[in-house]
Amino acid sequence: MGIFGPFTCAYCGNIFRGLKWSVKGGKCVCGQCYEKFSKDRPYEEWKKSTIAQIKAYYEDKQQVAAQGECAFCGHAFDASDIYTYVLKDRKKICYGCAEKVRIVCPVYCTEDYDTAKYEYVPATEDPLEKLELKELYSVLQNAEEERKKRTEQYGSHKAVFIVDDVMRFYKAPDKAEAHRIFGRAVLGRIDPGDRICVLRREGPHFIDVTSIDCQEYNKKAKSLSEGHDGALAVSGDVSFIYPGDVLTVN
Ligand SMILES: [Zn+2]
Ligand SMILES: [Zn+2]
Repeated sequence: MGIFGPFTCAYCGNIFRGLKWSVKGGKCVCGQCYEKFSKDRPYEEWKKSTIAQIKAYYEDKQQVAAQGECAFCGHAFDASDIYTYVLKDRKKICYGCAEKVRIVCPVYCTEDYDTAKYEYVPATEDPLEKLELKELYSVLQNAEEERKKRTEQYGSHKAVFIVDDVMRFYKAPDKAEAHRIFGRAVLGRIDPGDRICVLRREGPHFIDVTSIDCQEYNKKAKSLSEGHDGALAVSGDVSFIYPGDVLTVN
């Protein structure tokens, strides 16, 4: 443990200030990683591992987590389960089942005060962690009702997205202007390559989604599905898109 900085975390790549924790091989990790590791083994143990060994440990752990079958639908976990979820009663459910109820169980993104870094760090609260398997049946029913209600409200589309904010960014100094449209998918799923539509008085405007930036908790997802916040990356003019807009994909 040492103070000052900035340091680069050898595990997650975060640049941080404050306390650092050393591991074998003269490398150090950030407070967030320290906390994650400490949940699994005492730090005294980790101190004897190299970064490569820690990475191997977590890769194994992820594979173990994905073994077996979903307690809700019975499907055997496979590569399509980019995440598996552990419910309050320790029952594991598949990615597909979790996605089916996200519309009524969105992950709540907030911030926690990190006493090691002396700053607020992103944190999430997943309502699934507070549910028991037997409660999931009624939650699924609520999700289906909510989906029906939203389909009546927005019409039938492949996906519906509500805009929170539009931000300009440049991929590289020499590349074309690009934007990120932040917001949430309220219905369906948006994939890279989808054409989004916004209706203005003068008529519809269209723009293609080049890629999707999901929130940190959902980073492995390449698409944005209902109940999730995220950003749609687009290139070119977006002067016709405003916060509060309803974007549709057909
Ligand atoms: Zn880290
Ligand atoms: Zn399932």
